[in-house]
Amino acid sequence: MFQINDNYLKLKAGYLFPEIARRVNAFVTANPEAPLIRLGIGDVTEPLPKSCRDAMKLAIDEMGTHAGFHGYGPEQGYLWLREAIAKWDYSERGCDVDADEIFVSDGSKCDSSNILDILGVDNRIAVTDPVYPVYVDSNVMAGRTGEAVNSGRYKGLTYLPIDATNGFVAPIPEQIVDLIYLCFPNNPTGAVATKEQLSCWVEYARKNNSLILFDAAYEAFIRDKSLPHSIYEIEGARSCAIEFRSFSKNAGFTGTRCAFTVIPKTLKGKKYNGEEIDLWSLWNRRQSTKFNGVSYIIQRGAEAVYSDAGQAEVKSLVNFYMENASIMRQSLVSAGFDVFGGEHAPYVWISVPKEMDSWTFFDFLLSKANIVGTPGSGFGSSGEGYFRLSAFNNRSNVEEAMQRISNL
Ligand SMILES: *Cc1c(COP(=O)(O)O)cnc(C)c1O
Repeated sequence: MFQINDNYLKLKAGYLFPEIARRVNAFVTANPEAPLIRLGIGDVTEPLPKSCRDAMKLAIDEMGTHAGFHGYGPEQGYLWLREAIAKWDYSERGCDVDADEIFVSDGSKCDSSNILDILGVDNRIAVTDPVYPVYVDSNVMAGRTGEAVNSGRYKGLTYLPIDATNGFVAPIPEQIVDLIYLCFPNNPTGAVATKEQLSCWVEYARKNNSLILFDAAYEAFIRDKSLPHSIYEIEGARSCAIEFRSFSKNAGFTGTRCAFTVIPKTLKGKKYNGEEIDLWSLWNRRQSTKFNGVSYIIQRGAEAVYSDAGQAEVKSLVNFYMENASIMRQSLVSAGFDVFGGEHAPYVWISVPKEMDSWTFFDFLLSKANIVGTPGSGFGSSGEGYFRLSAFNNRSNVEEAMQRISNL
């Protein structure tokens, strides 16, 4: 009989979101009238900006004409979109990123997993704990880890614990690792890194010839002008970092699907004999072979994000979610919680009451306030004792949820 990929069997069975769904379903079955408010999921709730919809409608009509029909596009994305990204996301912020170094894709989740295709299997890999589960699970699936141990961690990965004592920014490790996943503003903790902190990471990576995989999916939520939006705001990052960006959270493209990855042409890794090879060529080859590009219609929608009207709409979407976050922070502080995040990210991260663990607090909040959140321990063993609340919701749900928590 044919064989399956055994690595998939290493994945922990009780994965976070199915387990949440199981508990919520059980609760709803027992309490069908309960007015549930979901602050658990990292999905946007506000409608798509008008500029994006208008651009997509136009593109659909173009597609209905001989002159405007588009079949297969460039696997790397249309140049007009890559040029808009290079100008508005990079050049305007003083970063040296060429349109040619931008690869448009259908999502950062896929890109941050697919990137392993072009990286050797023997790399030593570091992730933070807690962490966005995709980074870990994609390594497990690709056979780059050992088995899971009791703490839920996998053998073979280096975990960098982040907690209140280090401000949820991973400290530079003592040991040498080859690949480091960093996500700022962070999901799940809502933490953000300063230029100084990112500079230390870039310095570490350059010294040890490591690669930083920088996930900036939430950069639009940064409020403080002095904070870096891109790893390329740090000198030297062009020789040690890849950046993942997405239209999912800023422009509400979670269901529309468009993102991009930046691979500087100056970024080199070594092959088996030590010879240096540029990563750009490998990723270009990978995408050309395994990917056929993002729909023309969707790319036109993404391009509209950079129009004046699009920028204003995105700003107002982000402001809306960040006002939610601010309301949440205030109420939770008043209710006596230790509150983190929610200032430059749409996630508020709280300490659970001392007598509870993360899952006990999950059940408590569900049964007593009918609110669904996400237990911190689901993002890693060092997330134990914490809890994530998402600011992606409508205002009345946020206000009602905070009222209920205050009344507990
Ligand atoms: C939402 C999110 C993304 C974006 O993923 P897409 O596939 O582009 O929707 C990337 N990284 C993190 C940490 C996220 O939370």
